[in-house]
Amino acid sequence: MRAIRRFTVRTVLPPELAPLGELVHNLRWSWHPETMDLFAEVDPEVWERVGHDPVALLGAVEADRLRALAQDRRFLRRLADASDDLREYMTAPRWYQSLEGGPAAVGYFSPEYGIAAALPQYSGGLGILAGDHLKAASDLGVPILAVGLLYRHGYFSQSLSPEGWQLEHYPSLDPGGLPLTLLKNRDGSPARIRIGLPGPRTLHAQIWVAQVGRVPLLLLDSDVAENDAAARDVTDRLYGGGGDHRLMQELLLGIGGVRALRAYCRITGHPEPEVFHTNEGHAGFLGLERIRELTEARLSFDEALEAVRAGTVFTTHTPVPAGIDRFPVEMIARQFGGANAWPTVNVERILELGAEPDAVEGEKPVFNMAVMGMRLAQRVNGVSLLHGRVSREMFHGLWPGFDIDEIPIGSITNGVHAPTWVGREMMELADRELPELVETGQGWDAIQKIPDQELWAIRGKLRAGLVMEARQRIKQSWRERGASDAELGWADEALDPEALTMGFARRVPSYKRLTLMLSDPDRLRALLLDPEKPVQIVIAGKAHPADEGGKKLIQQIVKFADEEDVRHRIVFLPDYDMALGRLMVTGCDVWMNNPLRPLEACGTSGMKAALNGGLNLSIRDGWWEEWYDGNNGWAIPTADGVADPERRDELEAAALYDLIEREVADRFYDRAADGLPRRWMEMVKHTLTSLGPKVLAGRMLRDYVGDLYAPAAASARTLSADGYRDAKAFAAWKLRVTRAWPGVRVEHVEASGIGDTPELGATLELRATVALGELSPDDVRVQAAYGRVGAHDELIDPVYATLTVDSTGDDGRAYCVGTLPLDRTGAFGYTVRVVPDHPLMASPAELGLIAVPEEPVGMTNGTLR
Ligand SMILES: *Cc1c(COP(=O)(O)O)cnc(C)c1O
Repeated sequence: MRAIRRFTVRTVLPPELAPLGELVHNLRWSWHPETMDLFAEVDPEVWERVGHDPVALLGAVEADRLRALAQDRRFLRRLADASDDLREYMTAPRWYQSLEGGPAAVGYFSPEYGIAAALPQYSGGLGILAGDHLKAASDLGVPILAVGLLYRHGYFSQSLSPEGWQLEHYPSLDPGGLPLTLLKNRDGSPARIRIGLPGPRTLHAQIWVAQVGRVPLLLLDSDVAENDAAARDVTDRLYGGGGDHRLMQELLLGIGGVRALRAYCRITGHPEPEVFHTNEGHAGFLGLERIRELTEARLSFDEALEAVRAGTVFTTHTPVPAGIDRFPVEMIARQFGGANAWPTVNVERILELGAEPDAVEGEKPVFNMAVMGMRLAQRVNGVSLLHGRVSREMFHGLWPGFDIDEIPIGSITNGVHAPTWVGREMMELADRELPELVETGQGWDAIQKIPDQELWAIRGKLRAGLVMEARQRIKQSWRERGASDAELGWADEALDPEALTMGFARRVPSYKRLTLMLSDPDRLRALLLDPEKPVQIVIAGKAHPADEGGKKLIQQIVKFADEEDVRHRIVFLPDYDMALGRLMVTGCDVWMNNPLRPLEACGTSGMKAALNGGLNLSIRDGWWEEWYDGNNGWAIPTADGVADPERRDELEAAALYDLIEREVADRFYDRAADGLPRRWMEMVKHTLTSLGPKVLAGRMLRDYVGDLYAPAAASARTLSADGYRDAKAFAAWKLRVTRAWPGVRVEHVEASGIGDTPELGATLELRATVALGELSPDDVRVQAAYGRVGAHDELIDPVYATLTVDSTGDDGRAYCVGTLPLDRTGAFGYTVRVVPDHPLMASPAELGLIAVPEEPVGMTNGTLR
């Protein structure tokens, strides 16, 4: 018989052990090995059995054992130490507390969070990044208040059928069995939020709080009695279901999230966020809810929009169009219009926010969540330099007329949280040998002083740990596929703890090209079976449940790895999650990544490998484009220009095999008289010193604070001061400038001062006549753009110089002058443009308005000498 409902009965701890409950309910344990050691001591056998899940541990441990521990002086002393340490971690001032002017709190919204394997609320990179963001924020004292959804079935766990086909299982999670507490009102009743749905119906949700170190994470849960069956299922699974289900999830995350956050601040006294960070488009409705709040406080839609934009940061995470949420416009119109409309917000204004600028006439209009995200945020970023550039091209249509370089989308390259991803042996080595580095995050060069022997021994231990665990997992997987133990003797010898070990683990969308290494099976086989320099490969990855193509790729890999002659050298380990990810990035010598450039926005698994002394072997995409320096790993050459995808794969695969054969394996097996691979260790140390300081999530958080959170807080404060005086003025100004813009023109430009043969060092004197229509010179900036020109007279990396208004006419004309230095030889060009100008703008492109001469001006005929 199946139970109709399940819940977890929590253990009542003896009073002496009360601090244990606190330690279990603060997820800081997940990156604090000393706390995990303490949990293990509660009952080592149970700790292993429950897969290092402390809540499960407390549920499973015998009451007798707890009573014994309550009398165990030594255990109680350790418990008191761990508890003091946590208290100190939670309260002592940290990096952020030494800053001034930063936001009192930042609301951080993400559809998924990868905090620990014991909280399976993530599917891939986006969630893992969000988890690392919270942990690094906690370590640095950045006051983030995070919001997400609690998925009752989380993301699926993966196993294989006998034929190597991916099977999905959705665990049934009971919040009582997770490190969560229900948010309650002061009167003890559960705090609830509600969202009106068309129908009319109501979507209710309760709020769970996960404590991630210093950062509270609010998780909304629609599985409550007041909801109808469909509403209860809104938070059933991560990225399950289709359009309507997805929209409900995003309404709950964005709108419900703001309401939950307000409830939390009201109940606990936590400061209200001054900045809101929208981590990917899925969370974008949060901006609408904040507009609603302000319009109910009597601001107009435009005024509210300015106030909201000033304090909003939007991060885009994908250059793959399929990764962006787009809803049919009718769905959004039904939600925010008709009888369900908010009284103070016109649905047409909402629809405008999500309208695609390059929508094709005649095609069904869609509501694009990324586009809305960008319109609702004054500050937008991608997640690596290259991804920033790709995003500027992808969203160019929102700021027409501006050059790609001026599109106001910046970038902050992702990072990873070292205590989560670095193997314990490496962390302990750092504690022992590099105290300054551990303390301050500086002084990476000290790594060069660590004896090769010591570092190599640790690499060997980590590799052996991976091999041992992989053997267990292979056997387990084969048993699930129907094999008997008698057939599995080979698995005890699978993989070699001494052999060059390469790792490849990722989600399986097609651009990641899981099977590239299978392009030429004979060549791969030769690499694996090389008698002198064998290579072994550990592979993991999940395909999206609806992605049949991805499942086929997994099957191809599994079939190859099943073959008897190679199965001891290439293995597919099912159920890629944080625990397996950590095992792999710590144990592999080489981390391989071969996406189709430039579709990998950043990628972070290679950073985790680097921090463990693994070497990257990757296509120059995402972060690797930025930080590969020729000596810290290998770049697989890309065949970017080759149009035929099959040909391109073939070329890139051949280059990959060549690299492995000629460089990677060679270096690994080149041993000195003492048995050490000196040239390999040189590269490992260079990887650690060159990449270590860059790939840390702490660096990322500092960048977010300095480049985005603090400026956004400053803007938001300015706009809200004195009853939103500046928000009102700014909105009115934008409206006026936008209306008058058709009257703005660059009418005439003339240059003098350089004669017929321009020479280096001369100055060009520029005069421009500009029609301003109804605007005044204060509303605009007239600029010369000048510099090198390309074959089609396009300015390359132009310099901008503001021209001064020399005089104005009664007819709305402005006469402007300026001088340009001819400071470089070669083809030179210039032009003049007019853009809006206001101190509250964050970028000249902000309004998407620009006026340039109708005819190109100012190309020098000859070449400067
Ligand atoms: C790090 C990590 C990812 C993201 O890695 P990519 O390099 O972006 O593919 C995904 N899943 C898990 C379990 C991870 O640990």
